[in-house]
Formats: sequence, C-alpha cells, structure tokens
Amino acid sequence: MSCAHEQNRGKVKVDNNRYIVKGDFSVIYPNTPIFNKQGKLCGVTNPRDMTYIHSYGAEAPFFEGLSKGSLKGTKCENPACEYKGSVYIPFRIYCPDCLKKMKIVDLTAAAKKTARIYTYMVCERSGAFNTLDKPIKFINVKIEGTATILMSYLYLGEPSMGMRVVPIFRTKNPTYTITDLSWVPEGTPQSKLPKGFSF
Ligand SMILES: [Zn+2]
Repeated sequence: MSCAHEQNRGKVKVDNNRYIVKGDFSVIYPNTPIFNKQGKLCGVTNPRDMTYIHSYGAEAPFFEGLSKGSLKGTKCENPACEYKGSVYIPFRIYCPDCLKKMKIVDLTAAAKKTARIYTYMVCERSGAFNTLDKPIKFINVKIEGTATILMSYLYLGEPSMGMRVVPIFRTKNPTYTITDLSWVPEGTPQSKLPKGFSF
C-alpha cells in the first residue's frame, strides 16, 4: 500500500503563478488496536501520512541563494524611513519600520569576514522530523552591518561567545530549506565540511 501511495505522492506544479496540485496529500492507513497484557483495550494508533506544502513566496530568493552558496538579506532603501539603510537577516520582505518593500542584498562576503557567535545553546534532544546530528549546536550569528541576529547551527567544533565563524552551504543536492546553511569555525579546511557543503 505504501508503495502505491509513494508513486502517487502529492506534487505541485506552477502554472501562471498558480499552484496546480496532483496526487495524494493526505493518506490514511488502517489503524491498530492497543491492548494491555490482560487483553483490555487501551487505545488505537492512527497512522497518517501528509505532504505539507511550504509556500516561499517572496522569500524564495533566500533559499535559492543558499543552494548557490550565497547568503541574502534585505535592506530598507526608502528615503522617508527613519531607519533607512538597515539591513536584515533573517530575510524579510517588508521593512518593519516603514512597511515598504526592501531591496535584496548579498551578505556572503560580510558573513565570511565578520560573522561571530552572539550566543548559543546546545540541545541534546530534538523534536519529531529533526534531520540534524545531535547534540545540535544552535548559534545566534551576528554579521557586522546588520540590524538583526540570525539563528543557525554550528556544524563543527564547540561554540563559544564571540567566536568567529564562516558560512557553509549545501550546494550539492540542496534541500532548499534553512538546513542548507550551516557554520564552521574560521580557518576550517574544505576537507572537514559535511558531504555536499562548500564555502
Ligand atoms: Zn524602512
């Protein structure tokens, strides 16, 4: 059964800026009863399989950039904005101060030269569907010239406050998700990077 569903798994195409969906996006499997040792019914398991559509909209250039080894942020260039010139990463489309659409800027070079760990936390446990190796070293990265701090993860080494880090990108077989971006201590050789990643 799972094989047939796999073949007909939901897919999305885009035609004239509209999503065209085809296949199964929600699949229900036969349930199973849960009995205790004395044969008393205690519940059921309800297997479900769902395909979630995550629409990127105007944030798509950020994820596409990661797959090509570039880190993109946005900048407010509205002359009437009190905070004109502010640069934001995480990528956001509209200025939080004046609400005008911002310009996409490339922060790859600035990140390579100036990124530092602002703070961090190490998580021994994770939630469902986690794909990162544990313990996960979550780091908050500060890039000079930006108004914000980016949440990401350190792939190699032990994090420390103020540590210089450089971005790495999953440019081979990218997933087009935020895990295509990671960080390593400054000076790490290419040979130490995870499979598919490059500077
Ligand atoms: Zn603004």
